[in-house]
Amino acid sequence: RIVVEECVTSTNTLLRQLAMEGAPEGTVLVAQEQSEGRGRMGRAFLSPRGGVYLSILLRPPMDAEHLLFLTMIAALSVTDAIRGLYGVELSIKWVNDILYDRRKLSGILTEASLDGESGSLEFAVVGIGLNCGESVFPPEIASRAASLREVTDKPISRCALCAALLDAFWPRYDAFLAQMDTAALLSDYRQRLCMLGERVEVLSARETYEGVALDVDANGALLVKRDDGSVAALRSGEISIRTP
Ligand code: ATP
Repeated sequence: RIVVEECVTSTNTLLRQLAMEGAPEGTVLVAQEQSEGRGRMGRAFLSPRGGVYLSILLRPPMDAEHLLFLTMIAALSVTDAIRGLYGVELSIKWVNDILYDRRKLSGILTEASLDGESGSLEFAVVGIGLNCGESVFPPEIASRAASLREVTDKPISRCALCAALLDAFWPRYDAFLAQMDTAALLSDYRQRLCMLGERVEVLSARETYEGVALDVDANGALLVKRDDGSVAALRSGEISIRTP
């Protein structure tokens, strides 16, 4: 079931409501525009008309600790779709951004609803925002944002993009659930990850520091070697990685 809306506050917010009303796994919500598109930690994801804003409802029989892998599946699906439609290879910035020319072309926000008593996963909503229109961004993000317009001269069809995204997502999702093969997923993810071996800046609410991004471990955590030689395993969705 694919619900198409003109303008919504946030596709994730609306799909979460549908989920609470009992919408089944696989329900997809697409909007032309979001008035309150969100990134992580309540940050705004600017979502003017012309972009692709799509959320997918999942009810996977898995632990909440595996949520990070859903974000990775979505990130890989965005890169699969753009490669398939336009023949362009994009890279992924851990954990939820897809970059073109080291600028953010697409962002992913995975949100979960947990059972209040058992803490088990009731459902997850995976939201994908993809810039497709003219790349006129406000000054605060202009140097860090990219649009599909820059990636290709080919005509951009948002319908074709949504179809390609979903066609890429479901086989990856089904394969992951069938085997819970995190190693295979991480191997694909690692291949498209940028910044490995590079100096990065780690920003969290608590601290900011620099180090070298080494690898992603078996849990999907980013390993960063700090300047004092210690290695931090970054798991939290509340950490941002930047180029210093
Ligand atoms: P970063 O802050 O490095 O961009 P992040 O993954 O930590 O990445 P998110 O919370 O996932 O950030 O996304 C929100 C951020 O994305 C905003 O704070 C802003 O910097 C940037 N942003 C907002 N709208 C867009 C957009 N349409 N395209 C690209 N970047 C955007």
